[in-house]
Amino acid sequence: MKLKLIALSLILFSSVVTNAQVTRWQQAMSCEMDIDMDVETHKFTGTQELVYSNNSPDDLDQVFYYLFFNAFQPGSMMDVRSRTIEDPDSRVGDRISQLEESQQGYQNITSLKMDGADVDFKVVGTILEVNLPKTLKSGKKATFEMVFDAQVPLQIRRSGRQNTEGVRYSMTQWFPKMCEYDCMGWHAVPYVGREFHGVWGDYMVNITIDSEFVIGATGVLQNPNDIGHGYTLQDKDHPKDSKLTWKFKAENVIDFAWAADADFVHETAQVENGPLIHFIHQDDEEINENWNELKEYSVKAMEFFSENYGEYPYPQYTIIQGGDGGMEYPMITLITGKRSLGSLVGVTAHEMAHSWFQGLLATNESLYEWMDEGFTTFASGECMTHLFGDDGTPNNFRSLQGYIRLANSGAEEPMSTHADHYATNYAYGSAAYSKGSVFLNQLSYIVGEENFRAGMIEYFNTWAFHHPNPNDFIRIFEKNSNMELDWYLQHFVNSTRKIDYGISEIKGSGNSTTLSIERFDLMPMPLDVVITKKDGTVHMHNIPMVIMRGEKSPEEGYDSWTVDRDWAWTDPVYSLSLDIPVSDIAKIEIDNSSRLADVNPSNNSVDLEDGTQFIYKYDRIED
Ligand SMILES: [Zn+2]
Repeated sequence: MKLKLIALSLILFSSVVTNAQVTRWQQAMSCEMDIDMDVETHKFTGTQELVYSNNSPDDLDQVFYYLFFNAFQPGSMMDVRSRTIEDPDSRVGDRISQLEESQQGYQNITSLKMDGADVDFKVVGTILEVNLPKTLKSGKKATFEMVFDAQVPLQIRRSGRQNTEGVRYSMTQWFPKMCEYDCMGWHAVPYVGREFHGVWGDYMVNITIDSEFVIGATGVLQNPNDIGHGYTLQDKDHPKDSKLTWKFKAENVIDFAWAADADFVHETAQVENGPLIHFIHQDDEEINENWNELKEYSVKAMEFFSENYGEYPYPQYTIIQGGDGGMEYPMITLITGKRSLGSLVGVTAHEMAHSWFQGLLATNESLYEWMDEGFTTFASGECMTHLFGDDGTPNNFRSLQGYIRLANSGAEEPMSTHADHYATNYAYGSAAYSKGSVFLNQLSYIVGEENFRAGMIEYFNTWAFHHPNPNDFIRIFEKNSNMELDWYLQHFVNSTRKIDYGISEIKGSGNSTTLSIERFDLMPMPLDVVITKKDGTVHMHNIPMVIMRGEKSPEEGYDSWTVDRDWAWTDPVYSLSLDIPVSDIAKIEIDNSSRLADVNPSNNSVDLEDGTQFIYKYDRIED
């Protein structure tokens, strides 16, 4: 018995010391590629040497690669999905079905070896299924050598050649990429145009292309002195019709992307104690001016995100003109270039914020797209307020309106839905971007602003480079707020239950006032009931829930802060007694911070300027 106790206390002690460290296993790789692009035919050849470390506890007999370019063929899953979904993305529509052979994309594997032995493989749409010639044992490494060729499709979505602004190559999802294997197994998800997941690893990519092209890429250029093109002070004069090899190296990233054009110009801006930011865009009067102004904003944005969401660890970040809107990749973003300054800064802030949630935390976006797009939307909204000043609109206001529209539309699906599987693009987009952002903003309402801010930094410091899931995220805040928060995921993520509270009755009697507060819909929440008195003072009545086993610490901006008795979620009505005569009260509000995602805010506040003995009874109008 005594021994057992000692053992238990040792375990408890060690769990405390290892608190901030992540012990979950994950696969690792290093990937070296040599690419030779033919700018006449838009085809390229490639070799890939991938050293894969099986850090899982499982012996593997199979591996899988993504072959994303195969999506750009008539009849592909992406094509059929786009032609049959109720509300197709206008950028895709039926365009894939119209592609002629020379405009299609493909990745063709000519040979694959594992540790020198030939490998049996099969292409199934956008996935390469590989049966290993020998079992890759747990804890062992294998080297996969691949020879492949590919054709860059006409740009349809994200990657491809000749985007609408005439950028020649937007090279994203462009190479045979090892799928991720984790504690949930393989993620060999056919590409239908949505989200991504990847193996952490180092990339060394050598790209040979005609010398007049300028390239921006994930990673740091290793041979600037051979290149010129603004990567060094001295600009090289390369002979016409010659080719150059650009060598890029990136460490600890989940993907590698690049873009190239012959009209690109290249500039940089240094973030103090931070990365060097590269700006690469077409040399065009309409574009140059705004991109020149973008430099200062980008530096400030990088500083803002590093300060509020964790320190950006890479030496470099590249903003390059390309793609079909804005799309994030590790250490680089491709954005369309012909934009107003506000739009250019806005898209840059959004894509840069992805460096944290997509690039560094690298949640499996297919499964938890809201943890990427939603958190990014929240962070970039804050950054825009930081850059352009507060116009009085609460951060996240548009996301809240978007979510309320979705919740009341009948089209909502739980945020736990796989990104590819939503019935409509509308439900996916509003859940991922708007509701995901609301999730964060509302978390600060639940745990309090101070714990929320500290938690976001702690989340990054604990989980960067480790693919956190929703539970990993919420555990950070459970620990730092000392509250149980599993109910928040269950209701707000795994279901479409809605929040609707209202003040249903106010009764004054002598020196006291009694409020009846009612829960009209299924999702329970703690409530901030804010009383503004006629003397101008503002008083918080915080009502925690029993299932939280705690309450938030006081937030700033109130003349008094009272924590009232817990509300059991089974009770539809809560009675709150105040030691104030009703004649002293000017206003009663549920949540004056616009953080509670109440889908029917009309019954959340009552003005009592002309208070009488029995003054208010809310009659719910059923819709
Ligand atoms: Zn995004």
